[in-house]
Parts: sequence; C-alpha cells; structure tokens
Amino acid sequence: MYKTLVINVDELWLKGKNRPMYFKAIRRHIQEVLQAYHPGEFSFDLEEQRFVAKSGLPFSQETMQALLKVPGIHSLMPARRIPVNLDDIFPVVKEELKLTGTQPCTFKVETRRSYKGFPMNSMEVSQHIGALVDNEFPHLAVDVKKPDLVIEIRILENNIYLSTRKMLGVGGLPVGTSGHLVALISGGFDSPVASYLMFKRGCRQTFVFFYAYPFVGDEVKDKLLEIIRVLGQYQRHSKLYIVPFGEMQDLISKKCKEDYRTLFFRKAMLQCAALLARQVKAEALLTGDALGQVSSQTIGNISLLDNVTPLPIFRPLVGYNKIEIIELAKKIGTHDISVIPHDDACSMFAPKHPVIRPNASYVERFDKEFPLEEHLKKCLDEAEVFDISLTGEITFGQCNEK
Ligand code: ATP
Ligand code: MG
Repeated sequence: MYKTLVINVDELWLKGKNRPMYFKAIRRHIQEVLQAYHPGEFSFDLEEQRFVAKSGLPFSQETMQALLKVPGIHSLMPARRIPVNLDDIFPVVKEELKLTGTQPCTFKVETRRSYKGFPMNSMEVSQHIGALVDNEFPHLAVDVKKPDLVIEIRILENNIYLSTRKMLGVGGLPVGTSGHLVALISGGFDSPVASYLMFKRGCRQTFVFFYAYPFVGDEVKDKLLEIIRVLGQYQRHSKLYIVPFGEMQDLISKKCKEDYRTLFFRKAMLQCAALLARQVKAEALLTGDALGQVSSQTIGNISLLDNVTPLPIFRPLVGYNKIEIIELAKKIGTHDISVIPHDDACSMFAPKHPVIRPNASYVERFDKEFPLEEHLKKCLDEAEVFDISLTGEITFGQCNEK
C-alpha cells in the first residue's frame, strides 16, 4: 500500500566525525535488504539525516519486517508524500485516516520540522492539524499522553512525509562498525540471544558450533542451521563453522580429573574459536555465559577462561536472569528452535561435582602435559562451513570470508 518508506537511524547522529562511515555501512545494508526483498525498482536517498526509499510498487510487510532487523535503524515509517505546502497536509491526513477504520480511539499529532523555512513551527503544525482532525472525525479524540494512534508529520525542505504506522526497529549501530566477532553458538537459549545483543552494538559475526560427533546425532546440525537462519537476518551474509569436537572431548575427559571436564571442554572451545578468529580476522569472541548460571560460569572459571586467549571475550548476558533471556529469545524468534531437545555431549560427560574454584597450577600442569594446539587446528581444518544469505538460503562449503 505504501510506496514510500522513511527510515530513521538510531545513534548515528552521535558519531561526530565518523558519521559518514556509519551512514555508509547502514546504507549498504538497507540497500541489500531492499534488493533481496523488494521485487520492484526503487530509489533510495538520504534526506536530512534520514533515508527515504521510494518505489512504483508498494513495499510489502515482509520487506518492512526485514528492514526492522537492520541494526542501526531506529524506526520505519510507511509514508505518504506531500508537497511542501501547509494546505496540502490535511487532505492527505484525511485520506490516511479513512484507512484506519471507524473504531473510536485517541490520537495525537507529532510533527518534526527540519526545514526552518516552513511558515509554522512543529508545535503549531501539530495543533493546527490536530484541531482539523478533531473536527472532521468524531470517533477520534485527542490524548497527547497515551494515544492509540500517532499521526507523524515530517517537514523537510523538498517533501513532507505523513505516517500513522511508525514501527520500531532494533536500533543500535550498523553491523560491522564495531568490528567482527566469532560467536560461539550452542543449541541452547542463551548464545543466540547474546548474538542478537551484539548485532545491535554493531558487531559482524562469524558463527561456530562445536559438534560432539559421534557422541550426538546429526539432528543438532539442522537445529543450529535454523538458529543461524534467524540470526543471519541481522547481517548481510553469515558463515557457520561446524567443528567436529567429539574426539577432542573424549580425549580431554580421559586425561583430566573428572571435576575439570566441563571447564576444559569450554577452554578448548575458546582456544579453537580463537584460532578461527585469527583465520577470519575477528577481533573478539562472544559467548552466552551468565554469571552463576551453571558451574562453568562462576567468577573463578570465567577468569580462568579469560586467560585462554588475548582476545576479549564478550559476555553480554553476564547480568541476565534465565527468564529475561527466554523472553528475549521469544522476541527474536530463536526460542521455538532452542526449545527442541538435542543430544548434548557436555551433559553426557558431565562430572558429578564440577569444579567451581579451579586450581591454577593443576590447569598449568595439564596444559604442559597435554598440549592441544595441534589437535585443535586439525578440528578446525575439518570443520564444515555453511554460507547463509540474508534471506536464509544455505549453501555448503565456501571457505572465503566475505
Ligand atoms: P546456551 O548457553 O547457548 O543456552 P548452554 O546453556 O547449553 O547453551 P552453556 O553450558 O551455558 O551452554 O555454555 C556457555 C556458553 O559456551 C554458551 O552460551 C556458548 O556461547 C558456549 N558453548 C557451549 N557449548 C557450545 C558448543 N557446543 N558450541 C559452541 N559454543 C558452545
Ligand atoms: Mg547457558
């Protein structure tokens, strides 16, 4: 129905001298989403700090939903375009309101005027249009505090835009502007949510899953691919490395004290993820740890794991409760995939009493006696690599990072 979309950016105005770099990154991302989802020709320009996409064909709900997942987009306004003339505004408002139905409801008019040459200021336009709407539509009543309907008017130098359907996006920063992470994704609830939080902060991500073959079946791989299809909607292109890790876990559990098993599995995963980071030129690792959630996430264990690599390890869920994490998983659409049960080698090998305060000299001795580096490299070389496009198409096995 709407052939114009006004796309408002989030924190980009904060960025001072670097602003062009942020605009360039988000522009490229938006452009790719529009190319992937919108079947018609479109134009796409920056108009006074906001992007405006125009097309001869209406933008579909699917296209708009995809745009709302572009980090850095604050909000989207499917809009009507009006010439820059006060008297032209109300007739278009009337047309728009006829589409919203006749149920009684409350409204307010919200105007922003960046074109200072316009004869009325924002407040005056809101009052003027508000009074006309109030007169013309008896089922609509003004409520400036909690309106059901907001009539948005944007007055720019060359166009006025009107929208009653503003939608909030994920906000934050454009992907890639805060660097590149290797995200450790398991089949649980936490790590996909951690990934989402760091997309919002502008981090591009390469995904890695440590696959305990032959101790677990291969259904878990499909589960992971489904999770990555959801997360892949937040960046332009994704890669998932599925690293065979069963032998490694078997080896570790045979060599170490039983209570250190889980900790040493995590340690080996982080070491391997750090090797991958070097390969793909990522600058930090990302996990779904939450302080105290399980025994491997005590301060003692976290601080030991922090020493595995000089790379920073981001743990955006460190202060989250499980219920909060599950709420977010529902919101982003990974919950229903994560909830599907899968075999988990870590629980198969799980010690009765996992270590909570690890002994540094034991860990050091173990590392000296059983250096794992070569073995970890081999695991990584044997990884299956999947490419996932913005729209969720999966292709197997292209190794070049884009
Ligand atoms: P999640 O934390 O994703 O819900 P989980 O609770 O099974 O899954 P934990 O035991 O809490 O996982 O592990 C902590 C973190 O270590 C995970 O959030 C994830 O980042 C990483 N991790 C654990 N297992 C794997 C794995 N098999 N592959 C990749 N990363 C993993
Ligand atoms: Mg967890």
